[in-house]
Amino acid sequence: MAESLGRLITDLGERSLYDAVSQCSRCGYCEQACPTYVATGDESKSPRGRNQIVRLMLEGKLDDKASSMEALSTCLTCGACTTACYAKVPVADIVLEGRRLLRGETHWLVRKICRIMIASPGFFAVLLKIGFLLKKLGLSRPARPLLRAAGLSVLAAMDEHVEETPLWNLDDATRHRTNPVKAAYRYFAACGPRYLFPRVGLATLSALDELKGAGAYLNNPCCGLLAHNYGELSDARELAKKNIEHAERNGTEPIVGDCSSCVAFLKSYPQLFLKPEDAAWRERAAAFSKRVQDAIEIYGECADRLPPAIAEGVETTYHDSCRAINPQGLKEQPRRAAKKAAGASYCEMEGADACCGGAGAFGFVHEELSDDLLKKKVGNVASVQAGVVITSSTSCLIQLARGFRKYYPDAKALHLSEFVAGALRKDHGA
Ligand code: SF4
Ligand code: SF4
Repeated sequence: MAESLGRLITDLGERSLYDAVSQCSRCGYCEQACPTYVATGDESKSPRGRNQIVRLMLEGKLDDKASSMEALSTCLTCGACTTACYAKVPVADIVLEGRRLLRGETHWLVRKICRIMIASPGFFAVLLKIGFLLKKLGLSRPARPLLRAAGLSVLAAMDEHVEETPLWNLDDATRHRTNPVKAAYRYFAACGPRYLFPRVGLATLSALDELKGAGAYLNNPCCGLLAHNYGELSDARELAKKNIEHAERNGTEPIVGDCSSCVAFLKSYPQLFLKPEDAAWRERAAAFSKRVQDAIEIYGECADRLPPAIAEGVETTYHDSCRAINPQGLKEQPRRAAKKAAGASYCEMEGADACCGGAGAFGFVHEELSDDLLKKKVGNVASVQAGVVITSSTSCLIQLARGFRKYYPDAKALHLSEFVAGALRKDHGA
């Protein structure tokens, strides 16, 4: 059995996992907010059903482990249920705990990747470049059936879903950047913008430099979200400690990231250190988390300073990243910036806050259910005839781009950083 946290930080304070689950009164108020329940109509795939599974597990009354694991593994951990719940039951964290208690050993591949990310991030970057080169040469496609046969269908699905595979990364692109000693902010390079979408990272640095003043590239380790959600908590803690120490050595300025999933996780670091022997680390994690900001928060604060109407003529809408709108509560801030820069071309779509089915590795593991959610999202985009869809996390960018390639080639997905940086560039006549 994998290690579990055992205790969670809830809206009512720190609680044991059992007490956190017991906060659920089974009222069902959250059911219609849950994308997997709405898509399947299956009570076990609802927040209430999943809470009940974990509760029964903790009471030693769970008899059907296989279908319970299926119910927990199909949770998007989007947090929409917690937003809808009057008691703010932390269902996503409860589900992650349930998975850890049920699953046994971590998959060897996840463990391997996490260890490489911890011990040799430079080697990890080289491995990615080799993989991306193979894809560009058309050599990864014929390997997909072999990967599926070898039980590595997640790699085959990743190869199929991820279209952008640049041979340069954000570290390469910022190598000659001058980092001021007294920086206005410290840029946290999450793995998505760092390796898959360096164009997003560059846009964030450009927009923040202009809006906040010259910032520094933090050159940080991975945040540990992969290990937290799919691997070992010990690896997640190790990466969290590395990040906390690294940030402590690098000023006291705000730490700004541009993948909302990673930013939400950085903000939740204190929950990794609830054991009594970790009290000192908990304090350091709390100080670290207070410094963390999502770039989209800053664009919202600076919306008045953005030039208007960059995309006049192209209908532009906003898709909420689950980890921005739910755990971070960032609904109005990104819209303020998007509306200012899009002008009259901005339109709201129905279901903007519903998960697109990306959700980290969810889209690679539960391809059918993920595709159902994606089709619904693309339908909502098409119903407002949007040509640009703005969002704020890596898996949304991958998933939306895939959906548009498949079902609606008229639209493209952009990160809010790219939209804001584009508006500022246009204002300067570039
Ligand atoms: S999670 Fe909240 S809203 Fe959902 S059933 Fe439980 S108490 Fe009700
Ligand atoms: S986290 Fe999302 S998918 Fe999971 S139970 Fe809550 S609403 Fe449903």
